[in-house]
Amino acid sequence: MTMTELYSTEEFERKYTYAGSDLGARWKKEKTAFRLWAPTAKSVKVNLYKAGDPGVEDRISQIEMKSAVAGTWTAEVEGDQNGVYYTYTVELEEGVRETCDPYARTTGVNGHRAMILDLRSTDPEGWAEDRDPNAGKNITDAIIYELHVRDLSVDPSSGIQQKGKFLGVIEENTATPEGVPTGLSHIKSMGITHLHLLPSYDYGSVDEAHPEREQFNWGYDPVNYNVPEGSYSTDPFHGEVRVKEMKQMIQGLHKHGISVILDVVYNHVYDGETFCFNRIVPEYFSRTHDGHYSNGSGCGNDTASERSMVRKYIVDSVNYWADEYHIDGFRFDLVGLIDCETINAIVDTVHETHPNVIFYGEGWTMPTDLTKEGVALCTQRNARLTPGFSFFSDTVRDALKGTVFVDDAPGFVSGLPGQEAVLEQCFLGQPAWCPNPSQTVNYASCHDNMALFDRIVLSTPKASRADQIRMNNLAAAFYMTAQGVPFFQAGEEMLRSKPLPGGGFDENSYKSPDSINSIKWADLRKEEYRQVCRYYRGLIAFRKAHPLLRQMVSDTVNATVTPVSGLDANVLAFRLAGDAEPGREIFIAFNANPTAAVVQLPAGKWDVCADGETAGNTVIGTAVGAIPVEPISAVILVKEEKKAEMKADNSRKIALGALAAAAAGGILAALLGRKKK
Ligand code: CA
Repeated sequence: MTMTELYSTEEFERKYTYAGSDLGARWKKEKTAFRLWAPTAKSVKVNLYKAGDPGVEDRISQIEMKSAVAGTWTAEVEGDQNGVYYTYTVELEEGVRETCDPYARTTGVNGHRAMILDLRSTDPEGWAEDRDPNAGKNITDAIIYELHVRDLSVDPSSGIQQKGKFLGVIEENTATPEGVPTGLSHIKSMGITHLHLLPSYDYGSVDEAHPEREQFNWGYDPVNYNVPEGSYSTDPFHGEVRVKEMKQMIQGLHKHGISVILDVVYNHVYDGETFCFNRIVPEYFSRTHDGHYSNGSGCGNDTASERSMVRKYIVDSVNYWADEYHIDGFRFDLVGLIDCETINAIVDTVHETHPNVIFYGEGWTMPTDLTKEGVALCTQRNARLTPGFSFFSDTVRDALKGTVFVDDAPGFVSGLPGQEAVLEQCFLGQPAWCPNPSQTVNYASCHDNMALFDRIVLSTPKASRADQIRMNNLAAAFYMTAQGVPFFQAGEEMLRSKPLPGGGFDENSYKSPDSINSIKWADLRKEEYRQVCRYYRGLIAFRKAHPLLRQMVSDTVNATVTPVSGLDANVLAFRLAGDAEPGREIFIAFNANPTAAVVQLPAGKWDVCADGETAGNTVIGTAVGAIPVEPISAVILVKEEKKAEMKADNSRKIALGALAAAAAGGILAALLGRKKK
């Protein structure tokens, strides 16, 4: 039996699973205690350094560690060691290696040396009182906005001082030179509840030592899982700064009512060979076979989450971010490579002390060389095995705008027929793989693949720009009113585009320059872009006002949301009524045709709250009997039973007359195509 086979045996796990919560370096004023899990090591030493840069020969001392329980090694250093850097020197069959600590709380520049840290000294003022502003709500109440830290601020038009930094995310009252709000002010104005940040732990593809150079990467290349990325701090050389500034950012967002989600990438590491855990326990963290790394991730290695100490490591790491940084949600990259038992352990552990934290991820099915038999992976298909974990719905994404595997493929909004059945399931929050709407994240674009508007432009070469914008808004109207969790890429609400200099669009901008990736706030000078922003804002406000759109389980959805039958091709409509909103009904119709459709309404007088150009909680018209749905657009209507009855009781004649007039006026106006500012 090879060593890597041995790692995954019950015998090895019985003997070498360490369950304690004291791995890493634990600072106290009097002394710092170390514990490292290295079951195959012959000896381990701790090296203490003055600085965090490995290029500097400034070792203070070297301390021999003692062999302790379950394959761990321990040591203690007297005195206040806050701010002292350290590494481990591990002697193995394979040779002697100096490495960083997998449990490092922070590091020096580029993550080579860990740093001993008094974590309380990094807390901003008022941190103990900092809370998730959306605690107590359901995951279906979340409206998620996906952002890269650097993209928000780096364009000159942002007006943000701390460009590309954590602190730039919370600069208040920033604006373009023309005075249009940008950055946090803009995000806040959208009404979103959760800000999802692309990887913000320490990743490897940006050289932190050269902040003066333009460098960009999405950051799906983890180096230190429990350390903030240095290039987003104002000083990557001093380990405490990145910790302080990330906490400041989170606190600042919380103050503005915005919860924070971290994009976490436990499924693979930057480099399997040099990742510190694998340096300390060779090939333990990753799935290998005869020295070859499994590569389902397409990034060179897959994490062996089914091994007990990898599972513990991931559970500890997620829980640490929730505890220490007050993170309110986690988006798991390629979670289909991680086993269900690990995911359920994460959800259960974090929820013990942070019941509000939400979890979702990419549950694609991918091949990977598991190291144990009978392991179920956390994929969409296995959604029933992880009820507390939600999945991106490529079903609704592709049905709305076209498959991501063909650059110019159309979808429902851009003229592809035959999408009614699948979209009906998606609207009910129950695509084929999804047991409950609480488990589907509905979206039309994220950082991956073409931006939504770019895709629409590519797939509809003959359409007018006005119609292309209507397609964009139709997609948004669908996923913002569907059962499930709405999610969108930052800038989608202002027709974000990633044009390539030579023509076409960037469908994988992971390391493209700022000129492609940055949010172009200057676009908001134009009314066309501001109009789309207003539309998204209105959809969000409407969703927040209506619990009928935000139900958690399929049974209640199926009892309260009724698909309308007998409609034209490429038209969908739904009637919503139930206990979530007593005395009120909602009617929503989507028309993807280039011609208007007339949809029959249930009895009564309906208030129109949204059409192809305007959305919100303001009544923009009324309708009785039928509603014309303009080409490539949605309509949203609300009927208030109680209000109508009350009016009828108070002044029956006047009310009836006014109702009839208003209804007739509403229909007429809609048929004529109302002019709006
Ligand atoms: Ca880094």
